[in-house]
Amino acid sequence: MLFSKSFIPTTREIPKDIEAKSHILALRSGLLYMASAGIYSYLPLGYRILKRIENIIRKHMDAAGAQELFMSALQPMEIWQKTGRDKTLAEVMIRFRDRRGRDLCLGPTHEEMITEIVKKNVFSYKQLPVILYQIQTKFRDEPRPRFGLLRTCEFIMKDAYSFDATEAGLEENYQKMLIAYQNIFTECGLKFVTTEADSGAMGGNVSHEFLVEAAVGEDILYYCPQCKKYNKAEGKCPACGKVTETKTMIEIGHIFKLGTKYSSAQEALFLDQTGARNPVIMGCYGIGVSRLLPAIIETNSDDKGIIWPKEVAPFDATLVVLGAALVSEGLALSQELEKSGASLLVDERNESAGVKFNDALLLGNPFTLILGKNYLSSKKIDVEIRRSGEKLSLTREELINFLIASTDKRG
Ligand SMILES: [Zn+2]
Repeated sequence: MLFSKSFIPTTREIPKDIEAKSHILALRSGLLYMASAGIYSYLPLGYRILKRIENIIRKHMDAAGAQELFMSALQPMEIWQKTGRDKTLAEVMIRFRDRRGRDLCLGPTHEEMITEIVKKNVFSYKQLPVILYQIQTKFRDEPRPRFGLLRTCEFIMKDAYSFDATEAGLEENYQKMLIAYQNIFTECGLKFVTTEADSGAMGGNVSHEFLVEAAVGEDILYYCPQCKKYNKAEGKCPACGKVTETKTMIEIGHIFKLGTKYSSAQEALFLDQTGARNPVIMGCYGIGVSRLLPAIIETNSDDKGIIWPKEVAPFDATLVVLGAALVSEGLALSQELEKSGASLLVDERNESAGVKFNDALLLGNPFTLILGKNYLSSKKIDVEIRRSGEKLSLTREELINFLIASTDKRG
C-alpha cells in the first residue's frame, strides 16, 4: 500500500487529558477516531490490526471445534427477566422501547440469547456437545469511560458458549478453551498471566482469568519476585513467604463454568440417555477483542511509538523511499517483495526523511526498509529491526530471504 494514497492520519500532537500510553499512541498513529468519551471508530490501520487479531482468535476457536455464529445486538428484555439479570445488570444496560412498544436492550453480553437459541434447537443428548462463538459489539452504559479502548461504552468481544450433557463434557470443553486462549494470547505477542478467579456476576463456580501487566490496568495482582509468580492473595507470597509487589493488570480474557444457572432459569432442557429431561450444562468464554489492541500496545512500545508483534502488525515492513528519483525503484522492489508474500507500507510521500522515519517508528511495523543513498551506490537496502533497533544492509535477494524467514507466515 502506498502511504500517499492511504488514510493514515498520523499526528505529532499529543491529545490533552489522555492518560494511557496505548491511547496516546493509538490516536497519534491514526488507528482510532474518538467520537465522544468511550465511543471509538477504527480507522483503516486500526481496523486492519483488529482483523488480524480476530483472525488469530477464529483460527484457534475453529481448531478447538467451536462454530462461529453472529447474534443480534438488539435483545428483547423478556429473556433477561427469566434470569433476573434485567435487574442485576440494570445500571449498565442500554435499554429503550421501540415504536411498536417492545422493551429492548443493546446486548451487554449474550448468555440469555444463546441459551434461548439452544433451547429452541437442541432437544437430545445426541445433539451435544456443541460450542458456539461470535465476534461482536457489546454495549454498556459505562459511567467512567477511560484509557481509550480499555473501558468503553461500545466494545468488541469474542464470546463462546459450550453446551454439554455431562459435567465431564463441560470439563473437557473448558480445558480445550483454556488451551485455545493460551495459544491465542501467545500468538498475539502478549506476556499474560492465567489465574483462577472469582466469577462475579456470571454465576457458576470455576473460572480463569487472563491478564496482562500494564501501568493503566484496573485489576490488581501480587507478584512474588522470588517465585516469579503472580498471586491473587494480598500479603505475603503463599509459596515462600516473601513480601509481594502490587501489580496493575489489564483483564484480556475470562472463562467460566456456568453449570446450569442459565439453562435452569430459561428451561433449556434436553433428553438424556435414560429419557429424563435435564438442563444443559454450560460454559462461557470471553475475550475482550478491542481491548487486546491497547493491551498489546501497552506492553509493546517505546518512546518513539508502537512495536507490533509480527503476527498482528498492520504490515510486515515500512519501505521508506528517500527522494523522488528512487520512487520507481521503490515500487518495483515492493512488488517483488509482495510477490514473495510480504505486506508493505511504501512511504513514497513528498516528506522529509525525518518525518518518514518518525512515522515508521510510530506506526511500528516490524521492519523499516530504507531505499536511499546506500542503494544508489551499492544497490543495498538498509533494514532496521523495530524491536531491537538492529541495523542490516542487504541486497534485494538477501532482503527477500530475510523477510520470508522472519515473517514466518502461519496458515
Ligand atoms: Zn514466592
